Amino acid sequence: MVKDTYSKMLILRFPKGRADSPVVCNLAREYDLTFNILNATIYPRKEGVMVLQLFGTPQNFERGMAYLKQEGIKVQKTEEEIGRNEDVCTHCGTCTAVCPTGALAVSRPDMHVVFDQEKCSVCKLCVRVCPPRAMNLHPVDDLLPEV
Ligand code: SF4
Ligand code: SF4
Repeated sequence: MVKDTYSKMLILRFPKGRADSPVVCNLAREYDLTFNILNATIYPRKEGVMVLQLFGTPQNFERGMAYLKQEGIKVQKTEEEIGRNEDVCTHCGTCTAVCPTGALAVSRPDMHVVFDQEKCSVCKLCVRVCPPRAMNLHPVDDLLPEV
């Protein structure tokens, strides 16, 4: 991955009748953005919602977001994100066994559990398994800026 590449977790809302349009493939093909679809509820003649992680340079993000807007697709950042209460975490490591993205990982040699929010897919698995309830969900209610 190039140095200025970053990632964002996004929710795409497709209007009725557009749920089967190949916009996500076009983001990759035309705008050099790579993606990881985490969840999709898409019905051909109804509204569709897709949660995906998108990777690319800020410039390509901007162009890709403009393309989605032009296609009538609403883009939101995920409405919730995961945080960790550092005062409560005991670095027991339990969460690293369930985290599917590597957002929670043991750093060596100190064996501390580090949390990288950029990698988090908000699957919430860590919230359920954390013995002292250090991992928590909180709302993020900011729409992406208009492009
Ligand atoms: S399970 Fe909870 S207490 Fe244990 S390392 Fe993960 S966040 Fe910290
Ligand atoms: S919500 Fe899921 S991806 Fe995010 S840190 Fe927890 S287990 Fe990992």
